Amino acid sequence: MTDIPNFETIAKAHGHTCPGIALGYKIAVAAAKWSGSDTNISVVSHTTRCPLDAIKQTFDLKKHPERLIVDDTNTVSFVLEKIDGSKLFIDEVPNTKLTSKELHMLKEKIAANTATPEDIARHTAIQNEFLHIMLNTPDEKLFTVREA
Ligand SMILES: [Zn+2]
Repeated sequence: MTDIPNFETIAKAHGHTCPGIALGYKIAVAAAKWSGSDTNISVVSHTTRCPLDAIKQTFDLKKHPERLIVDDTNTVSFVLEKIDGSKLFIDEVPNTKLTSKELHMLKEKIAANTATPEDIARHTAIQNEFLHIMLNTPDEKLFTVREA
C-alpha cells in the first residue's frame, strides 16, 4: 500500500517550503491514490525541480533509484508505471507557475549573495503566500491525470 503523503513529511524531506513542493505534494497524493496496493512503481520524470522530491518521497525512490528515470525537459510531467504495465500520465497545465517580478528580483539577489535580511524575509513571505495559493487551487487547474 502506498501511503497517501502528508504535506509536512514531504516539505521536511524537501528541506524548504515553496510553491513547487506544494504542487509536487498535490501530484503525489493523486499518484498515491492511483497506485493503491501497488508499491513497486517506476517513474519517468521530465523535471528535476522541486515537485520531483514529493514523488521521490512518496514512492521511496531515494532508496530505489533503479525505479526512477529522469529525462529533463523542464516540464512538470511524470509517467508512473505499475508492474502490470498500467500507466498514469501526469502533466502540468501550462502557465500555472506562480511568480512575480519582485520574487524574481529577490531570487537573483539571493543567488548573487547580495540579499539583505529584509530581502530574505520578503522572499520567504512571498513563497509562503504562493504556497498557500497552490495548496488551495483545485488539482484540475494545476495538472491533468490520464490512465493508460
Ligand atoms: Zn522547493
